Amino acid sequence: MKIATGKQYIESLRNRGLNIYLFGEQITEPVDHPMIRPSVNAIAESYDLAQTDPELATAISEFTGKRISRFLHICKNADDLVLQNKMQRKLGQLTGTCFQRCVGMDALNSLYSVTFDIDEDRNTRYHERLKSFITEMHEGNFIIGGAMTDVKGDRSLAPHQQVDPDMFVHITSRTEEGIYITGAKAHQTGCINSHWLLVMPTMRLSENDRDYAVVGALPVDAPGLAYIYGRQSCDTRSMEGGSLDVGNSKFGGQEAMVIFDNVFIPWRYVFMNGEFEYASRLVDQFTAYHRRSYVCKTGLGDVLIGAAASIAEMNGIERASHIKDKLVQMTHLNETIYGTGIASSYQGYETKSGAYICDEMLANVCKHHVTKMPYEIGRIAQDLAGGLVATLPSEKELNHPEIGSLLKKYLAGKEGVRTEDRMRILRLIENMTLGRNAVGYLTESMHGAGSPQAQRIVIGRMMQLEYKKRLAKSLAGITEDPEDQEKIIHEATSYFKRVFEHA
Ligand code: SF4
Ligand code: FE
Repeated sequence: MKIATGKQYIESLRNRGLNIYLFGEQITEPVDHPMIRPSVNAIAESYDLAQTDPELATAISEFTGKRISRFLHICKNADDLVLQNKMQRKLGQLTGTCFQRCVGMDALNSLYSVTFDIDEDRNTRYHERLKSFITEMHEGNFIIGGAMTDVKGDRSLAPHQQVDPDMFVHITSRTEEGIYITGAKAHQTGCINSHWLLVMPTMRLSENDRDYAVVGALPVDAPGLAYIYGRQSCDTRSMEGGSLDVGNSKFGGQEAMVIFDNVFIPWRYVFMNGEFEYASRLVDQFTAYHRRSYVCKTGLGDVLIGAAASIAEMNGIERASHIKDKLVQMTHLNETIYGTGIASSYQGYETKSGAYICDEMLANVCKHHVTKMPYEIGRIAQDLAGGLVATLPSEKELNHPEIGSLLKKYLAGKEGVRTEDRMRILRLIENMTLGRNAVGYLTESMHGAGSPQAQRIVIGRMMQLEYKKRLAKSLAGITEDPEDQEKIIHEATSYFKRVFEHA
């Protein structure tokens, strides 16, 4: 059955018998686990948004002709890329956390063009296979978790040089039916609550790494898979009952380590098998898509700005000019992230496969902003919240027959504001800057889709200093060979070509 609503999605996750470990125990039904459920709810929200705002959160499948989630859509124009960003901001606003679906979306789009390129060069059949897989995903309207980040072992060594060959996921054997893979993927966003996983290499590979050049799709419940659930700051608060101390009781993110122990993938789901030369192209394309997907954080920023403004109001200081100024500062930072991400999408261009890819330079600038600006937005939110954000008593004290009334009296803010409401806003700020959703808002902003240095490398690679030096020297009247100068100015890379094409 095609999954349409959040409720249907949640039901589709039941009784799958996944091999999940959390707190030293195997979890039989993750859907009902109080610590895991908020991450399930966050994905469910994406299905519900598709119901209430189909223009934003769905598209028509070119493979089935039916309406599907935009997260499964292959972008065929710049508007498709832009709409992805708008949907991401909206879902960030609605959930206040990582809604976990963009990795699969960006993996599908990057694989669409890379498999096309491999087939064209090597006469392979990966692109056709991928299209069949996408059709299957569209028919069920499934969730795909992208699995890219290997555990990596000694970071100075290539995959084949590692003492333990399993530090990167690799093919252990090939049969007539398919391949077997072993290894582990670290901090996989939204894996247990997905239907399928798309395994991809994590970095540039050489000939000796041939067995590490593997891309394949497998169901989340494939035999040989194990999931070790990642802890988040303050995660056990969701197991205490009550709804106040968690800050955001409904939504959360999810990361787990995924262990592959000789897991079988039939050939029809294998989209790269040893073509190591294409690993870096896939990583570059995927990270370009995914780095501008981080406009998701502006939706979370909207929530945090709203929380900061609310606490100022509850404290009776909303009219103070420095408060207004700080809210303006938060908004300026938030919109700076959005501006670069959405511009990257608007400046998208067509690949040979027909799929559109976003502008790589602006995508990297966007993600680089994301490694810093949410921290500053979070800092200002804590500034406006005051020390109570970190010293508030628990919900149980608030409801205590003896001291509850004292707390209501002494934690009161402006007249007419319920003490409990003031505590709820403070807890939300705590949740997003220190608690569970600080994983999504801060640390994931730092390291997700590549740590800051990874973006600096791409920006450095694309910054075209020679071209810029020529521009400066020409205006400064420094004479050089005029033909050479002309040539370099015309050789402005794709980034500048796109800047001027769209001017
Ligand atoms: Fe999507 Fe953002 Fe979560 Fe990545 S961090 S999966 S881009 S919501
Ligand atoms: Fe992420």
